[in-house]
Amino acid sequence: MNDVRFRALPAVEPLVERALAALAADGPAGDAPPRALVVEAARAILAAERAALTTDPAAAVEAEGDRLQRIVERARSLARPRQERVINATGVVLHTNLGRAPLSKAARRALDEAARGYLSLEYDVAEGTRSKRALGVEDWLVRLTGAEAALAVNNGAAALLLAVWVLGQGREVIVSRGELIEIGGSFRLPDILARAGAKLVEVGTTNRTRIDDYRRAITPQTALLLRVHPSNFRLIGFSERPAREELAALAREAKLPLVEDVGSGALVATEDFGIEHEPTVAESLTGGADVVTFSGDKLLGGPQAGLIVGRREWIARLERDPLARALRVDKLTIAALEATLAAYADPAVARRDIPALAQLAAPAGALADIAAALARAIREALDEAASGASGAIRGLEVEVVPAASEVGGGALPGASLPTSAVALTWTGRTASALERRLRLGRPPIVARIREDRVLLDARTLMFEDPSEVARLVRAAVIGA
Ligand SMILES: *Cc1c(COP(=O)(O)O)cnc(C)c1O
Repeated sequence: MNDVRFRALPAVEPLVERALAALAADGPAGDAPPRALVVEAARAILAAERAALTTDPAAAVEAEGDRLQRIVERARSLARPRQERVINATGVVLHTNLGRAPLSKAARRALDEAARGYLSLEYDVAEGTRSKRALGVEDWLVRLTGAEAALAVNNGAAALLLAVWVLGQGREVIVSRGELIEIGGSFRLPDILARAGAKLVEVGTTNRTRIDDYRRAITPQTALLLRVHPSNFRLIGFSERPAREELAALAREAKLPLVEDVGSGALVATEDFGIEHEPTVAESLTGGADVVTFSGDKLLGGPQAGLIVGRREWIARLERDPLARALRVDKLTIAALEATLAAYADPAVARRDIPALAQLAAPAGALADIAAALARAIREALDEAASGASGAIRGLEVEVVPAASEVGGGALPGASLPTSAVALTWTGRTASALERRLRLGRPPIVARIREDRVLLDARTLMFEDPSEVARLVRAAVIGA
């Protein structure tokens, strides 16, 4: 390293001191990133500079002020939580990348209580003795679905894994080829079955499976029949699969359990929301499924969880297995889940208080009003900016347009829910430029683009403050 350029690079320590001084000068001390992160940032920026000098013999050493600035920015970005609040303007109600179901007020209160101190997690307060974990959740599930017993684990995938591990391990599990699904986030049904130690026996074809296909596949090695909600895809046209009742009758005849993964886990009739019918958990049970698995954070509208309901003997076997302990659900989840389920005691309350349900059930008129109010707030914010010291704003066209929202979370893939959206057109700029600027705001607005316009869907914005959204839109446009 005789290259003089490398010798011109500063040492880490003095650089860190200067960066800390710059950060301190720039705001209250409590807001500055901790020293460890400034050191990490300084090392990373110096290493990148060294690498650039190595690959390009003609490159010059960076100006000191620029280097310092980059370290300060990197340190701030390292200190910023990766989990931050995001405003979902996409119209996808159960957006997996954005955390699926937002929680109800009651669930948030319960979470806060549970996080704050100690709680009766596995303790019977009346008796002063140890009690069963998640008992409240299980009681509610039994009450709401009519099941004999219930069990909560970490997520839908874990629920199915546990069921197949305990009931199907080392034996054969029969599934229709039309139900061998992959859903987002690397959930592939054949892989889960393999991990659960079961041998997958595929029957039928992609589009048609008949009851006799199942019947012929049953051998002394068969452990269970598995029926899976195809979730995020849909077969249309020439397709059929046996009714659940037929499959249940066959399972009974063969003395095998019928396990059903219903995916989203609707506890209420979705057709009451003016959207298509999504099979409910109770329906699966009355249709003859012995064990039903579903998610807590999809249509149910609660925290991430995997719920299992069904016949007492099977649930008890799942509960006793050591894998159940490994998939045990956290106290915060239990608290939020119990509060979410309690709202279902009155379906009207569930629909009002559980945000995912309220959004799905929102009438077209209400959504149009929300979009109109938001458009007004954005126009006002822009007018203010135009008359203020900041001078001319870039032309932004603000319009209310009809659009379509989606349920998301693998539920009702074909369903598009009529909604109203605020469409933004930024004169002379592309829609993706605006979409990006909205995404880089604080908090970020995540929006989608349609026909070269940015759409802000009223459905997923219904619980947001329109003046905050308007302020963010203004900042995105004026900051340009
Ligand atoms: C979503 C889904 C799962 C996985 O549930 P997670 O809670 O995301 O683990 C499993 N099966 C079906 C049919 C699903 O729709």
